[in-house]
Amino acid sequence: MKYIRVIATIIILALITSTGTSAAGTVDVYVSGNTEKINATTEGSVAYVSFSQLVEILGGMLDWDLVGHRISYTRENSRLEFTVDSPYFKLNDTVYNLTFPVKLIDGQMYLPPMTFIPFLNRVSPQQITYSEQSGSIRIESEYFNVTDIAFSRKANGLLVEIYLTTTLAYDIFLTEGNWINVSIRDAKLNQSKILSRKDSRFMYRLKTHQIGETGQVSFRLKRNVEKWHHKIVYDPPRIQISIADAAFNLDTADTAPVVGPDNKIDVIVIDPGHGGGDYGAIGKGGTREKDIVLGISKELAKLIRKDKQFKVIMTRDRDKTLTLQQRADVANMAAADLFISIHANSSLKKDVRGWNVFFLAQAKNDSARAVAQFENSAFLKDQRIAGSIEYGEDPILGILNEMIMTEFQAESHDFAMMIDREMRRSVKIPARGVDQAGFYVLNMVFSPSVLVESGFISNRNEEKLLKSSKYQKKVARAIYEAIKRFRSKYESN
Ligand SMILES: [Zn+2]
Repeated sequence: MKYIRVIATIIILALITSTGTSAAGTVDVYVSGNTEKINATTEGSVAYVSFSQLVEILGGMLDWDLVGHRISYTRENSRLEFTVDSPYFKLNDTVYNLTFPVKLIDGQMYLPPMTFIPFLNRVSPQQITYSEQSGSIRIESEYFNVTDIAFSRKANGLLVEIYLTTTLAYDIFLTEGNWINVSIRDAKLNQSKILSRKDSRFMYRLKTHQIGETGQVSFRLKRNVEKWHHKIVYDPPRIQISIADAAFNLDTADTAPVVGPDNKIDVIVIDPGHGGGDYGAIGKGGTREKDIVLGISKELAKLIRKDKQFKVIMTRDRDKTLTLQQRADVANMAAADLFISIHANSSLKKDVRGWNVFFLAQAKNDSARAVAQFENSAFLKDQRIAGSIEYGEDPILGILNEMIMTEFQAESHDFAMMIDREMRRSVKIPARGVDQAGFYVLNMVFSPSVLVESGFISNRNEEKLLKSSKYQKKVARAIYEAIKRFRSKYESN
């Protein structure tokens, strides 16, 4: 592997001609009484440090792929995967956003420590702190196995995650005054890290106790705790506590940015639904959803490609089986600015007709819920094989409701409305309009995203229409016009 890495480095060096407006320097790394220096730079106003050099101090393995575009870091049982120039990275099987892209400078990998070090702490047995003020990094080798806590607001409540380095036994109990107490056995709490996560939007107090081998984390919530549950999840190991209460979501003061750090809306990911062994819905005349949606997607890709302002990526461009996670990975690794999943609908009632556009949010009616259940079935199949989902009475809604990502909801809704407007203008079949439901594929994508149901394959007339290239082109054109509209509204120059 060494040999391959050397070649990769040479290719990288050859590719890099300039690093743009950057100021190079070093930062001090304090580790067990010594001070070491690693390369640092700033891009715009964002500080970066050489992760390649930091790894030499921290330990762990850094691996480059042949072209030097993907880099993975392995530390004990965890694996982080980065893509050069993308702010998205994977920690085991979950995708996270660094806000600023991974940089490659003189054959070394650079990361923004401000946003990256919190993630590094989740996988590192050492405690790593970065001081923005002094521009230095401190590594403390004290051992913790309860490393962090995160509070995140979901569409219908609050999700609390306590990060562990390994699976630990715990007890959880509610006490008067809306205190939730998590008592973890054989625990060594990183108390200062956990206490720094106090978020006054949700809680009055956050406390930690280390009593011998037992660590306890307690927080007093601002709302009455009525519906809640907890479980251990893996990759990375953590205790997950969901508190169902939509009021946690009322404060919308801190809205996330729509576009990535480059402020451009140019990467469009098209996801033709189903494929391979998954046929999707099948019409009376034998038409398969997977073929129809590939046709529409190819037309759409062709239109976007002609427009030099955009870069188009398809999750599949042929008949191929893909999991919903693989589709989302394509979008996240490409740092998609828009994600469009294309489908055709189906109903047991043969006379049901029309197209509609969905964005991700909790379903408000049974028909939207039914569409989501059908489109989610591929995901549930994957998960059953992996055996990693616990089933309640209502698996689809039960799982997704607590996990719905609301970050891009407003933009996704807006984009859905733009498609709706264009479709009404150019397509003659009935408009069923914009609706919302819990689609797994949309929930895994970190960008504004929609799912278009382009017509009912179960209706004889629409089945014929969906097969015709004229109709496929019309749908593609309507979506393309909406993409341009979205770009001119949201892209800042
Ligand atoms: Zn479908």
